[in-house]
Amino acid sequence: MEEIVKKKYGRVVIVGRPNTGKSTLLNAIMQQKVAITSPLPQTTRKNMMTVFENEKGQILFTDTPGVLGKISDLMGKRVNQEVPKTLNQAEVIVCLVDISRPKSEEENKVIGLVRKVKAKKILVYNKLDKAVGTKDHFADYNYLEDEFDKSISISAIKEKNVKGLINMIFELLPEKNGKDVLANIENVKQESGPIITMHAKEYVEEIIREKAYLFLREEVPYTIFVEVTKILDKKKLILIEGVIYTNADRYKKMIIGEGGKKIREIGFNARKELELMSGRKIFLDLTVKTDTHWMERIEKLG
Ligand code: GDP
Ligand code: MG
Repeated sequence: MEEIVKKKYGRVVIVGRPNTGKSTLLNAIMQQKVAITSPLPQTTRKNMMTVFENEKGQILFTDTPGVLGKISDLMGKRVNQEVPKTLNQAEVIVCLVDISRPKSEEENKVIGLVRKVKAKKILVYNKLDKAVGTKDHFADYNYLEDEFDKSISISAIKEKNVKGLINMIFELLPEKNGKDVLANIENVKQESGPIITMHAKEYVEEIIREKAYLFLREEVPYTIFVEVTKILDKKKLILIEGVIYTNADRYKKMIIGEGGKKIREIGFNARKELELMSGRKIFLDLTVKTDTHWMERIEKLG
């Protein structure tokens, strides 16, 4: 007689303000055991999905690149509308905070969004390795635990307690029988076409924009616009060309940085993330241009 093994299946969304370690965590999780990596090409959702599998079941992870970043930014506003939708589809929400930094306004926005959702919630204190003893900002965040089902401290980069977090997620996920789980995975496979194609243009732009904001935070506030002009699958690698537009020469200088340091940093981090999400080697060529009509470009996107 065939034994039906009860497994667990569910959607999990990782949220947190930029730089809390969401991508690093997803990377650490996927290194443990990867079944299928299938970033979906529906780039309008601005999310990437990845399937994790072990003997307990399957988890469909969604990373939310930069969507909770600069809410005041023009394009950011549009992207932010996508977040609640994603959150509502999740069985479990993993809310990442960086205990090496004090709580900020951005955290409040994230918590505010998460609060509205019915899903099970885990509060994850990240960067445990960096913040030890008196240097941590644990107290800034731990009063939030009341609103969460569980909490755990991890180091995504040192892969400490990542297994513990995965077990915690499985505890909160609903049980389904084995067949359902497989059916769901099949759906994901079918939905996922070519990993990065011209349709992914918007997604790639979003990643570059996210990294640019991250590395230019204080310096260049809302004056950039990213356009991907070429995505070419060269078999051995995917060639991507992009332009970062800004509205003044002094901003252009800042984006490039001394001896090209800044733009290289932006490019390196965008490439790393694209490689992680696509499982492919990426060659990313970024240029910076001054364009006083960048506002109109954004409005055209409307
Ligand atoms: P995201 O914007 O939330 O996706 O954050 P990233 O995953 O891109 O990480 C932002 C930065 O924090 C990167 O420089 C990571 O290397 C670093 N980081 C992530 N997790 C940890 C951690 O556990 N410890 C330390 N010390 N750094 C981390
Ligand atoms: Mg990220």
